Amino acid sequence: MQKHKKITIAIDGFSSCGKSTLAKALAFELGYVFVDTGAMYRAVTLFCFRKGFVSKESVNQNAIIDHLNQIEIHFERNKETSKLEIYLNNEVVEREIRSLEISSLVSKVASIKEVRQKLVVEQKKMGEKGGVVMDGRDIGSVVFPDAELKLFVTASSEVRTDRRFKELLPTEPNITREEIRQNLEERDYLDSTRSESPLIQTEDAVVLDNSDINQQEQLELALELVRTRMHG
Ligand code: C5P
Repeated sequence: MQKHKKITIAIDGFSSCGKSTLAKALAFELGYVFVDTGAMYRAVTLFCFRKGFVSKESVNQNAIIDHLNQIEIHFERNKETSKLEIYLNNEVVEREIRSLEISSLVSKVASIKEVRQKLVVEQKKMGEKGGVVMDGRDIGSVVFPDAELKLFVTASSEVRTDRRFKELLPTEPNITREEIRQNLEERDYLDSTRSESPLIQTEDAVVLDNSDINQQEQLELALELVRTRMHG
C-alpha cells in the first residue's frame, strides 16, 4: 500500500468513541504518522491546572493566553515500549493527562480561541507532508479541510462509558461509571456547542459506528476506504 500516494486521514467524533485506537492502528498499518490532538489539549490543560489557571470553579482566560508561549508540546516514541508519548515542557505526561480531573477541565481550556490557534498551527505542521492520521474534534473541519479521507466515528453512550471505565480503573480504582458517563456527556455538549471550531460532522465525512463491531473489523472497514482514496 505504501507505494501509493500518501494521503491525509482526519478522524473526528465524540469523546471515547475509539478514535485514537483506530487512528493508531491505521497509522501502524500504513506506516503513517499518528497524531492524537486530544492529548495536546489535555497537556495544555494540565499546564494550566498546575499553575492554578483552571479549576472546577473558574477559568482565568487571560492568564492562560499570557502563558501560552511557555508551553512546548511534542510527541516521542518510548524506546522500550515503542509507544508514542506526549511531552509537556520536556516531561512525559502521558498518564497525568488522562485523569478524570483533567478530563473534567479540558473542554473549558479547549474552547479558548488562542489555545486552539496555537495547537492548530502545530497540527498543520505535523501533517504538512501528508501520510498522517490525526484524530480530534476539528480535524476534518479546520485542521485538514482538504483531507482525502474524513471519518466521523461514533458509538453508543453505553459502549463509550464502558470503554473509558475500563481504561481508567487501573489508575483510578474509586471511579464510578456514573462519573464517567457525566464527564462524557458534559464534554460532548461543550465541544459541540462552543463558538470556536465546534465538533461537527462535515458533509464529506464517512460515518463509522463501532458500537457492534470489534477493533479489527473497524480497521478493515477504514482500510477499505483508504484504498479507494489512494487510488482516486
Ligand atoms: O480526544 P480526547 O477525548 O482526548 O480530547 C480531550 C478534549 O480535548 C475534548 O473533549 C475536547 O474538548 C478537546 N479537543 C478539541 N479539539 C481536538 C481534540 C480535542 O477541542 N481536535
